[in-house]
Amino acid sequence: MFKLIPNFSLRHNNSFGIDVCANYWLTISEVKDLDEAMTKYPHLREETKMIIGGGSNLLFLSDFDGVILSPDFCGYEISYQDDLVIELEVGAGVEWDDFVEYCVEHGWYGVENLSLIPGKVGAAPVQNIGAYGVEAEQVIVKVNGFNLETSELESYTREQCQFSYRSSIFKEKMLNRFMVTSVVFRLQKRGELVSEYGDLNRVMKELGEPSLKNAREAVIQIRRSKLPDPKILGNAGSFFRNPVLSAREAASLADFLPGLPLYPTSGKEVKVAAGFLIDHAGWKGRRLGRAAVHDRQALVLVNLGGATGAEILELSMAIQQDIFEKYGVVLEREVQVVE
Ligand SMILES: Cc1cc2nc3c(=O)[nH]c(=O)nc-3n(C[C@H](O)[C@H](O)[C@H](O)COP(=O)(O)OP(=O)(O)OC[C@H]3O[C@@H](n4cnc5c(N)ncnc54)[C@H](O)[C@@H]3O)c2cc1C
Repeated sequence: MFKLIPNFSLRHNNSFGIDVCANYWLTISEVKDLDEAMTKYPHLREETKMIIGGGSNLLFLSDFDGVILSPDFCGYEISYQDDLVIELEVGAGVEWDDFVEYCVEHGWYGVENLSLIPGKVGAAPVQNIGAYGVEAEQVIVKVNGFNLETSELESYTREQCQFSYRSSIFKEKMLNRFMVTSVVFRLQKRGELVSEYGDLNRVMKELGEPSLKNAREAVIQIRRSKLPDPKILGNAGSFFRNPVLSAREAASLADFLPGLPLYPTSGKEVKVAAGFLIDHAGWKGRRLGRAAVHDRQALVLVNLGGATGAEILELSMAIQQDIFEKYGVVLEREVQVVE
């Protein structure tokens, strides 16, 4: 059954806590709900549509003049398993971290390093979420959903998803045109932990034997110590992507900035730590109006209370300009701005 709410405040549905409204909020838990809602309220067909999960990767600049679709598809279903792997179809409306916890409890490897990332399962393929050396694309087999333009059910294989660093076809060409209803993941029953990233190995050893549960616990501890809780301080995690440079550009930047963390990619390019650049440029803890750069994590912009989306955007643009002037590096946004 669908649920339609007019003049909906989005304040508690975006992790920045920006105080904006949408014309309508439409929750659907089955694909047919969408058609039923449009049949009962035909004027909804003319409204601009936007799909939302947990709102943890969005920056609203103003009220949304349209319908926000909130897919609330639930449940887990095993689609295949053998001695080594299990394929699990998970509803788009499931909380991402509930899914990770479920896998760890069942002893299935693959998503433990992605513990505690806010948001819903349906959004994971959209920006190909990643953390601690693991990206969602490594475990996604298929993305199922509904094409809002053709009203057809469609499935995308991993190749068709066109995954890249914090992006996919769903964040580009199909943005707000394809509603993810479920994602099929392939997890390993006898996997290996990925623990060489950052402090993960050290924290896991402090917790005891290397294990799935300790890997998850270590990630949770590290994240809690570094990242502000959006329930207390509005934010959307990393505001910028780590810039990807040629090996030569990265090496000359590292000569100029000793200690700059460099992460080789699978190609010939090198990812450099955007947070290091922002910190080095003196932005950590700085504020502009009611927006600020977090004092422990320079990659995270925060709402100090009552900030507008425009204030946060203004701060982000000042940082982008400064980083370009100081280091010649273009910082791209990871967070999606909704105008
Ligand atoms: C404290 C904090 C830490 C974070 N850490 C990380 C991190 O380590 N790694 C990382 O990658 N991200 C991180 N993020 C960003 C964010 O959690 C992820 O991008 C997450 O996947 C967003 O999920 P969501 O459900 O909140 O999506 P939303 O913010 O609601 O939406 C994000 C995008 O996905 C689209 N979308 C959402 N659901 C669907 C659907 N069912 N069908 C089609 N499109 C959909 C939306 O239209 C939008 O374009 C962090 C955020 C916060 C606040």
